[in-house]
Amino acid sequence: MESHEQVDKVVPVLVDNGISYARGGVYRAGTYPREDFGLRPELASYWSKSCREKNLKVVMEILDIRLIETFDSWSDAFQVGARHMQDYPLLVELARSKKPVLLKRNMGATLDEFLGAAEYLARGRCSPILVERGSATHENHSRWTQSDSMIAAVKRMTGIPILVDASHANGRRDLVHPLTMSGLAAGADGFIVETHPEPDKSLSDADQAYPLDGLGDLIADAKNLMELRKSWRPAC
Ligand code: PEP
Ligand code: MN
Repeated sequence: MESHEQVDKVVPVLVDNGISYARGGVYRAGTYPREDFGLRPELASYWSKSCREKNLKVVMEILDIRLIETFDSWSDAFQVGARHMQDYPLLVELARSKKPVLLKRNMGATLDEFLGAAEYLARGRCSPILVERGSATHENHSRWTQSDSMIAAVKRMTGIPILVDASHANGRRDLVHPLTMSGLAAGADGFIVETHPEPDKSLSDADQAYPLDGLGDLIADAKNLMELRKSWRPAC
């Protein structure tokens, strides 16, 4: 989230498109320290209030165990970023909450490590939701490599919901639509997409920001695919 004006632009579009959870990056992990992603409590609380007034639930990333209490009052669900997937004290603390917790797969984590981290959450009272956000591989045409096979395997082996995040998994806005669809085809229960009213001007991850005015079509295509896959008949 960048400003009050931006919040005012984004929230109505999310509401119009029937989105259930809005995740605004208000305090996040940046790859380089020169990027300033410091917490702006006033903007965070404005974002939270604006969403809740429209019955939109709010997801916020928790980077630091000491901030859980503050974020608790603003959020309806928490996110654990890829770089914190194995931050076990953070997982244990978040597991005490009754809220959903989105757990992003670390870019180097195997299925087993991912599920091990999820188990920390599942031992508590919260509802874990897994997120596939890509791995580090030899490929260099995208920032990370999305593992649709991870999604399919999670769906086959567990009852834990999993979302696909094609924005972070690919780092390229032109791959967001096709890879959201491929993640859903692999069985994802939903998706996360990073959007911006003016993608090229985005202060964070501009390369992957999906145009806000394309969000409605993306959602409609996703719903169609999710409807279609109900008729699929895998033999095993
Ligand atoms: C994010 O969701 O904004 C983010 C930084 O994602 P990840 O932790 O997957 O890199
Ligand atoms: Mn991001």
